Amino acid sequence: MTTDLLPDLDGRHVLPSDDGYDDARRPWNTAIDQRPAAVVEAASVADVQAVVRHARANGLHVAPQSTGHGAEALAVDLRGAILLRTSRLNAIAVDAEARTARIGAGVTGGALARAAAEHGLAATLGLAPSVGVAGLALGGGIGWLSRVHGLASNAIRSIDVVTADGAARTVDADRDPDLFFALRGGGGRFAIVTGLELALHPVDAVSAGMLAWPAEATGEVLEQVRRWTRDAPEALSAVVRVLSLPPIEAIPAPIRGRRIVAVVAAYLGPHHDAERLIAPLRGGGGTLVDTFGPIAIADLVTVAGDPEAPGPARGDGLLLKDLTPDAVAAVEALVGGAAFDALTILELRQLGGALGRPAPAGHGALDRVDAGWAVFAGGSAPDAAAADAIVAAAAGIREGLAPYAAEQVLLNSTAAGVDPARAFAPETWARLARIHAAYDPDGLILAAHRT
Ligand SMILES: Cc1cc2nc3c(=O)[nH]c(=O)nc-3n(C[C@H](O)[C@H](O)[C@H](O)COP(=O)(O)OP(=O)(O)OC[C@H]3O[C@@H](n4cnc5c(N)ncnc54)[C@H](O)[C@@H]3O)c2cc1C
Repeated sequence: MTTDLLPDLDGRHVLPSDDGYDDARRPWNTAIDQRPAAVVEAASVADVQAVVRHARANGLHVAPQSTGHGAEALAVDLRGAILLRTSRLNAIAVDAEARTARIGAGVTGGALARAAAEHGLAATLGLAPSVGVAGLALGGGIGWLSRVHGLASNAIRSIDVVTADGAARTVDADRDPDLFFALRGGGGRFAIVTGLELALHPVDAVSAGMLAWPAEATGEVLEQVRRWTRDAPEALSAVVRVLSLPPIEAIPAPIRGRRIVAVVAAYLGPHHDAERLIAPLRGGGGTLVDTFGPIAIADLVTVAGDPEAPGPARGDGLLLKDLTPDAVAAVEALVGGAAFDALTILELRQLGGALGRPAPAGHGALDRVDAGWAVFAGGSAPDAAAADAIVAAAAGIREGLAPYAAEQVLLNSTAAGVDPARAFAPETWARLARIHAAYDPDGLILAAHRT
């Protein structure tokens, strides 16, 4: 097999015949059984170039992957591909004065949050510390800072890439501006990213935490959140989650092993303002837990309590135009339905603020998110039957919320099978196709949402 001839690397390569193959090929989402022709753990830009040249010379594809959180969306047969792991490219250099960070393509949200917080700064990251910053930002990227600062993709200042011809380049507003445009929100199919420079934001104080009630209160809580968030300042963000929690020690006793409805909220600003803002939610009483209060900036990326360890998962998302009283009633009915039992999470994430406005000039492929809320339905899928049940339940959620759904989809939170063109305005989608044809005419790079 041609992969036997892989060049010498600073990192390492693992072939199907090697002992470590099963560990090396396993993505964070262990429900996805990816079986590439070889796995390369790149430790340098030169390694990435060597892999691209080798793949090109031997008729193979290259599938860059950092953590494998997006492995479900990759959803292609990798037998003719080298899986290019970037996790060893994990350097972080914060320039506190310029308020930027230079990071390797394998850096996770948690690592960047800790490094930036040492300087009183924060990056626009997602809600889970284990997600890769590059994968998140290439697909858009929405988190606690987004209602104030917009999409993570538009915080990118420059990108180090290896293009499909094997060349290493740095792209920005002046150098390869088309490629720079495409990678910022258009996903990872245009080039292999080896590093990024990102804007950071000063954050003086943060309050965040979770308030939870029994799931029976879902309709009531959602209605309260609907009114509460209508005029909320942009520095306040809320996520409502209906969760089926496992009976494990790590979960606080009052909610362990239960189905709950939780509001996870974060406020970027003085603690006394946060207390005043959270008061209406507390007012109804009946909470099982209430952890909302001052936290360290670095802890923002863990406050939602997303699972950090790999596990088998399936899920799908959609956008809602707005959270209307009818949409609240529809969610309440879906949560009470039998299909819901297959899910471990139904999330409604508040958007708006800077996300809803066109980004400043010079933005990437995704300038705004034309929706008020993002919905995600997911579950733990240890076997095929569980996976099928989750897919069916998520389809039920999609159907039940169809009257309230926005046209746009978000690449980051949709499973494979959703038309990625729906993430963009038609002219942007056409421009992305032209850029792809120019930079990877042979389709060497395999990416999530590439069709
Ligand atoms: C538990 C969980 C929580 C999440 N929370 C959020 C959230 O709060 N906000 C949000 O916006 N999204 C969130 N997501 C979605 C997440 O942003 C996407 O799944 C993202 O693609 C993951 O990036 P990754 O690098 O970790 O995953 P990977 O599977 O490693 O990468 C996903 C894709 O990104 C591209 N890619 C990654 N690295 C490179 C590279 N070096 N060069 C070129 N392309 C590359 C590839 O196309 C790859 O297939 C979450 C996902 C999970 C599973």
